[in-house]
Amino acid sequence: MIAMCNRCGFCQVACPTFRATGHEAGVARGRVALLRALREGRLAWSTDLEEPLFACLLCGACTTNCFPAVPTADLIVEAREEYLEKVGRKRIHGLLFEHLLPYPERLRRVARAVAFGKNSGLSGVARALGLLRIFGRDFPRSEKIVGRMPGYALRERFPPGVLEGGGERLRIGYFVGCGMEIMNPVAAEASLGILREAAMEVHILENACCGLPAWSYGDREAARKLAAGNIEILSALPFDRIVTDCSSCAAFLKKYPDLFEPADPLREKANEVAARVRDMVEQVVSAPPPRSKEAGRIIVTYHDPCHASRGQDLVAEPRKILAALPGVEYRELPEADWCCGGAGSYALSHFDTAMKILERKIDNVEKTGAGVLATSCPACIVQLAYGVRRRNLPIRVCHLSELIRERSAPTG
Ligand code: SF4
Ligand code: SF4
Repeated sequence: MIAMCNRCGFCQVACPTFRATGHEAGVARGRVALLRALREGRLAWSTDLEEPLFACLLCGACTTNCFPAVPTADLIVEAREEYLEKVGRKRIHGLLFEHLLPYPERLRRVARAVAFGKNSGLSGVARALGLLRIFGRDFPRSEKIVGRMPGYALRERFPPGVLEGGGERLRIGYFVGCGMEIMNPVAAEASLGILREAAMEVHILENACCGLPAWSYGDREAARKLAAGNIEILSALPFDRIVTDCSSCAAFLKKYPDLFEPADPLREKANEVAARVRDMVEQVVSAPPPRSKEAGRIIVTYHDPCHASRGQDLVAEPRKILAALPGVEYRELPEADWCCGGAGSYALSHFDTAMKILERKIDNVEKTGAGVLATSCPACIVQLAYGVRRRNLPIRVCHLSELIRERSAPTG
């Protein structure tokens, strides 16, 4: 696939890191050239490769602008895996992927501690002492991207189990994404409300992290282990659909079959699970329209998470949902499908580039004149909210589910 690149440079216009840095090493063509040099033995594996390999957002925008459709993001993930094997990994990632993300209860406990640190100002003390650097080169600066943390996690208020709904027949499994659970439980509650209107039963799952952070880092084995655990849970329960309101989780759950070799017995189960996965956006457009209620006029724009637009081809659907909400004037965001620079934990190691990309996004948001910026990925919400906060803009950043819930009347 590396050989497919004809060096035309068309990827330059679409690549956020290239537009932010202007460096050839920061665009798909340069990244593919680097991988080619490694394959051909013209370049040795060393710590010098950390920066070029981990500076890619994995947003996939280059591939959509590339005639041979070179899958640069996938190639970079493969190269990251090789880097971890040949050069080494950071201890913090082993702790995260093997001892924290597979255990939702531990993650919730850590989130409580982080919330206490942030909300009480203690993280500022830790930052001043330089302690936060263990989480990533730029963590001391990027830690401020997260504003106040919620004081609870979703499954502390709604433990795993079955909730009765007002709909007919449909049984939905609600996959709880880590970001929604910890960073945005209010929006997750709104999603639960929407699902209960549509289904007879909503089962809040005891799932762990979907595995995407490990996969993106190049630790594909850790991602497979997380996926295997979730597949066992999801395939054992008789849901008609498995819905998640995190577009990044939804895209990765749909990708589960690709994680396992055809001969692996988990492959068939992964296929069966992936076929039932729906992004919240798909669930809403496929359900009868919610009963609308009187609501004041607002101007809303929408940011496409990379994992919704390029990851799942969900482009028209969220716009259709928003435009149909009562009182909403929908305005299209210029470059709506450009990555916001959030890209999971990108800013922890590439704060300056992430901020340049974010500035461009917020410039575009301002052009719309919108008072509400909606999206469907919790990592994007955190990043966009920071962009708005930095400029003191009177713009609310929220999840689509919150707007839907606020602007529809309960049935029954
Ligand atoms: S990655 Fe695609 S768009 Fe970029 S230089 Fe290569 S062929 Fe051209
Ligand atoms: S995946 Fe995104 S950041 Fe990486 S090379 Fe392609 S466009 Fe640039």
